Amino acid sequence: MICIAIANQKGGVGKTTTAINVGTALAATGQRVLLIDLDPQGNASTGLGISRAEREHSSYDLLVTDVDLVDVATPTKVPGLDIVPATQDLSGAEIELIEFDARTHRLDSAIARHHAQRWDVILIDCPPSLGLLTINAMVAAHALLVPLQCEFFALEGLSQLLSTVERIRSRFNPGLSILGVVLTMYDRRNRLTDQVSDDVRAVLGRVVFDTVIPRNVRLSEAPSHGLPALIYDHRCPGSEAYIALAREVIDRLPKLKKAA
Ligand code: ADP
Ligand code: MG
Repeated sequence: MICIAIANQKGGVGKTTTAINVGTALAATGQRVLLIDLDPQGNASTGLGISRAEREHSSYDLLVTDVDLVDVATPTKVPGLDIVPATQDLSGAEIELIEFDARTHRLDSAIARHHAQRWDVILIDCPPSLGLLTINAMVAAHALLVPLQCEFFALEGLSQLLSTVERIRSRFNPGLSILGVVLTMYDRRNRLTDQVSDDVRAVLGRVVFDTVIPRNVRLSEAPSHGLPALIYDHRCPGSEAYIALAREVIDRLPKLKKAA
């Protein structure tokens, strides 16, 4: 089982959209996928059609109690894709976690406790911060998938993210790798985004996925229907891009498996 955290402390860069659609694309290839919604806003849960009333168990339980993953996971409408939804009380979890000695390892332990191996891939949708929730995700993960929005300040903040990764590696999780960086919200009518994409590739090199996610209104409409874009409109440019990205993700998985 491979665990991938989708992280960037900036909000609105496409983490949740990437989590939902890469998760859906991986499930479509026959992988058994679990998405853990670790953002108190619960956008991944809403976007996958899990109403608040249905969120009986949540990622909060996973962090502050000793439940098994199987008991907090819920199926979604997407065959092969399950979710651990997020609830509002997750916003208090960072404070509550301070009381635990192993506060950075709560999620890691929860995943390790799960011996049934029900899933091939676990995706963690992180909140927009580098607090304890994201740290729990980084300690639990084999690798990070980092969405980067094609905007002028794209690289700003990345050094902070990378130094956090470095700290997690040296203290808790030496094997943590960067699966890849994906450029999101690419707008071909805007020449600045080309410049940004060139700069990012010049600085980061091959860690950047070839696939670029275009700015596409269908991607932003889909969540209000409680569906992944890949199901809401599987032929829109955004969906096609996420299918291509999932292919690249699959190509990079064997390296992780060796390390895992
Ligand atoms: P994050 O999880 O990083 O905060 P989201 O995935 O929630 O980011 O995206 C922020 C907003 O932008 C959401 O309303 C989402 O629907 C929209 N969005 C994300 N990716 C795209 C895209 N490629 N094109 C158009 N809208 C997008
Ligand atoms: Mg989000």
